[in-house]
Amino acid sequence: MDFFIQLLLFLILPLVLYFAITTFLQFNRSKRHYICPLDSLSDVYTSLLPTDFYTKPQERGNNDGGYVYASDVPTVLQQLRTVVATLHSQQALASLDPYNLIVIHERLAYTNSSDVVNWFTVQFNLFTGSITALGTATHAALAQDARELKKLGCFALTEKGAGVLSGLLCDTIAYYNPEAKKIVIHTPTEDAKKCWISYAGNSQIEYAVVFAKWCQATIMNSSKEISVNTNIGKLFITPHVVAIVVQIRSNGVILPGISIEECNTRSDFRSNCFGGLTFTDFHTAPENLLDRYCSLDTTTGALQVPDNCPKLFFKLANRLLVGRLCLSGTAIVCAKSALQLVIKKVYNSKRSQFSYITDHIQVMLQQICEMDCYFRRLIKRFQIDSSTVTVTNIEELLEKNIDEILLIKAYIPPLCRDIVAKCRELYGAESLLAHTRMAESHAGCYANCLAEGDSVVMAQAFVGQCMRKYKHISLRNWRLLWFMMKILVMVPTSKRIKYINAHQTEIMAVFQQIANGIFQNQGIYSSLQSIPVPITKT
Ligand SMILES: Cc1cc2nc3c(=O)[nH]c(=O)nc-3n(C[C@H](O)[C@H](O)[C@H](O)COP(=O)(O)OP(=O)(O)OC[C@H]3O[C@@H](n4cnc5c(N)ncnc54)[C@H](O)[C@@H]3O)c2cc1C
Repeated sequence: MDFFIQLLLFLILPLVLYFAITTFLQFNRSKRHYICPLDSLSDVYTSLLPTDFYTKPQERGNNDGGYVYASDVPTVLQQLRTVVATLHSQQALASLDPYNLIVIHERLAYTNSSDVVNWFTVQFNLFTGSITALGTATHAALAQDARELKKLGCFALTEKGAGVLSGLLCDTIAYYNPEAKKIVIHTPTEDAKKCWISYAGNSQIEYAVVFAKWCQATIMNSSKEISVNTNIGKLFITPHVVAIVVQIRSNGVILPGISIEECNTRSDFRSNCFGGLTFTDFHTAPENLLDRYCSLDTTTGALQVPDNCPKLFFKLANRLLVGRLCLSGTAIVCAKSALQLVIKKVYNSKRSQFSYITDHIQVMLQQICEMDCYFRRLIKRFQIDSSTVTVTNIEELLEKNIDEILLIKAYIPPLCRDIVAKCRELYGAESLLAHTRMAESHAGCYANCLAEGDSVVMAQAFVGQCMRKYKHISLRNWRLLWFMMKILVMVPTSKRIKYINAHQTEIMAVFQQIANGIFQNQGIYSSLQSIPVPITKT
């Protein structure tokens, strides 16, 4: 018995000491006051506002200037053109490096509707960004036209049957037809149809970057022998997803071989007519293959991929990494703007006597400051000299920081969505009014959780990285330790994937513990001045 008690003390005492010391150290750590920046480039901030921002007749009873942003396609597109012209005149679009794109997204989110931000992200990050990062000199002219909005495009990755996993489970196929000397893109099944493609339903969109599984007559090294019947006979499916930039419309008319299903019933992003794209043996020139990381042998139709690119898709998916940072930055702006409105209303009225409201505001202030502080620290890593930066530098930087990008996408948009929802509630009935933009911010944050990689899937991928690289293993993250121990001790190697898929709720708890530890442990404190309330026009 004595031995048992001694053993127990021997095991428990160090643990108690560990927790006591770490709690004591944490408690006594000096905290710094963190002030959230409202806008990083405030001198050019107002120039991105719609030109009639101060002159348009106000709505009655407004609190934020009463401006109702337009959501019809011609006005949104015109505003996008104005904003892009302004940015060009300030040389702000000279480089599309990630840091610059994030800063521009934030500036846009403060001054424009989510429709404009959404169109900007598709045109500049997804469409132009893909052509620049994945294409070569052949595609430079198109990329330049896209930067100047002379050519508008979309990004066709998601498929009906694949959703968040679309890149990995891409069923659209592409192959080379040597006789016609063309690449053929084909949708073999209903499930392979590209769907939720932003702006594909808008007649102004002429181009699309399409992702498709490459097929060829020869089996690729180390790939499985899966074949598909095509118009030129039986071909083998390679493990590579390629990106091809194709013209889908000419003067507003859809080209033969493509059919576009328009989604006309949307509650948010009303200028964005999502499209479903089906390709029926659609022929396009081989030069349209974005071939920075691969090349096409036009005699055999075989794709050549360097050995250091085992799966081309991961290179292609880097566009989404930049997008995830942009969407997270935009979500923080939405949360800050919503909180600003609530603070202004509550502290200018008798509502400040109610602790339910003020306590919630304090908690949200702290959460926003923590997120903002972490986000700003991370994006500084992407602040590189634009005169010397190359596409390869950027790709390497993105791949190096993949863990943190996953963490940010998994943590920030869902928390911002919750904050905006709470703000709406605390703002009361007025949160339903169009000029408060609360409903729009709410929808924006919600879409940011889904688009460019669902936040739940991002969280799981982050935990996967932690387990593979033994990152964040500590007593504080006991859930991670426990889960890893269970897998290592109890689950045979062949059944681990199945086990993980069956325990995703537990993985989400693991994620929450690690992420809370990171975001809530930065030694900062916030106050009501942490989010400056904007000066409104008189
Ligand atoms: C505003 C907006 C714009 C978009 N624009 C584009 C675009 O321009 N181009 C484009 O290609 N796509 C676009 N998309 C599509 C977007 O990328 C997909 O919505 C996203 O990938 C999620 O796919 P899904 O909607 O089919 O959800 P599903 O895959 O059906 O997922 C539904 C839910 O199931 C859960 N889930 C799914 N898979 C897993 C898993 N493996 N493990 C655990 N949980 C899982 C997720 O939590 C998710 O919330 C856009 C979406 C939105 C909302």
